[in-house]
Amino acid sequence: MRRVLASICLACLAVMAMPGSWSALAAPVVVTDVRVGENAAGTRFVLDLDSKVSFRIFMLADPYRVVIDLPEVGWRLPAQPLPRNTGLLNKFRYGLFKEGTSRVVLDMRGPVAVRKAFLLEPAAGYRYRLVLDLVGVSRAAFLKSVGDAGLEVAAGPPVTAKPGARPKKPVPTAAPERVSVSAAVFPLPLRKPRRTEEKRMVVIDPGHGGVDPGTVGVSGVYEKHITLAVAQEIKRQLNKTGRFHAVLTRERDIFIRLRDRVSFAREKDADLFVSIHADAIKNRRVRGLSVYTLSEKASDSEAAALADKENKADLIAGIDLTRETPEVTNILIDLAQRESMNRSVGFASGLVRELARETRILRNSHRFAGFAVLKAPDVPSVLLELGFLSNSQDEAALRRKTYRTRLAKAVTRAVDGYFARVEEAARK
Ligand SMILES: [Zn+2]
Repeated sequence: MRRVLASICLACLAVMAMPGSWSALAAPVVVTDVRVGENAAGTRFVLDLDSKVSFRIFMLADPYRVVIDLPEVGWRLPAQPLPRNTGLLNKFRYGLFKEGTSRVVLDMRGPVAVRKAFLLEPAAGYRYRLVLDLVGVSRAAFLKSVGDAGLEVAAGPPVTAKPGARPKKPVPTAAPERVSVSAAVFPLPLRKPRRTEEKRMVVIDPGHGGVDPGTVGVSGVYEKHITLAVAQEIKRQLNKTGRFHAVLTRERDIFIRLRDRVSFAREKDADLFVSIHADAIKNRRVRGLSVYTLSEKASDSEAAALADKENKADLIAGIDLTRETPEVTNILIDLAQRESMNRSVGFASGLVRELARETRILRNSHRFAGFAVLKAPDVPSVLLELGFLSNSQDEAALRRKTYRTRLAKAVTRAVDGYFARVEEAARK
């Protein structure tokens, strides 16, 4: 029965999976199940694997997280909801963190310690099992372990974590820094002047990916798959015109940091950056698209809440933000920034116009908020929210290739119109 379910699951994934996103399944080690259970001592988290792996475990604070890093593995979990709200565990997510590393992030209900972490040899009908025993501890004890180098478990005999056995790094005393607009700012190397005969470079950024699934739709579809599918179609159509060179920040289901998406656009010397997302909210009747540009002040409270949610991507992927120093601040007053912001607004209004010809858009369709991914100071940048995965009509539409093709047509017309206006302005 389980095998039947698993193949049904793979079939429905295939609907959303894009070329290139299957390489994780070709990985030598495959995770076949995930189980969570409670016992008198605490909470046990188990990954079933078809072969041995080494892994590393470390902790992150605010919120309380336990991170398991593995070599790149494939995921063939049974088609059933992931365990959640069990014992000390609130929920967890998994996926490709970077080339060669898969990651599981456990969101805990409170401070915990790893009592034991080990790999079990095949027995009792199981293949290999990665076992993590977690116990509740005080916040102070948890924060001490956050400074640790982590617990390495080689594919060998059981290893027991001895609290305090490792040299401690100093525990940060200040409140941990959250993902904020100012934390995602960059030093500004000079950009090369553009040669006029070059094609315009457009960077399309499929939101989320890998260990960060983004929002989850009413039927269970992940935002990260929708964004990649739409981005790939936009890229295809833009490149087909022969006037643009479109590239994606990610071509597969892999995690990419917000700041790396922005750096990528700057390295590519992009003329335009479009980040693709899809939202979900409590009110399941709300549907339609919106376009966002950067602003220190959000245009409304929903826009502010959305930016806040999208800016947490790095946190969700299990990145330790407490060890990062913001590099440069106050780019908003930079002249290049002001010019890019004007251009972003220009592109956004054209984009709203073109999208309105194809589909339903929200009443306040162009809005402003502090999205970290829109902070390249010298690249006009917009964020397109494709619709609401919490609405069954929006979700169903986004799963259809024909609808994605129409959206991409609108984006292509908007890009065309935008550069025509830019060139006309340059001739005056
Ligand atoms: Zn998103």
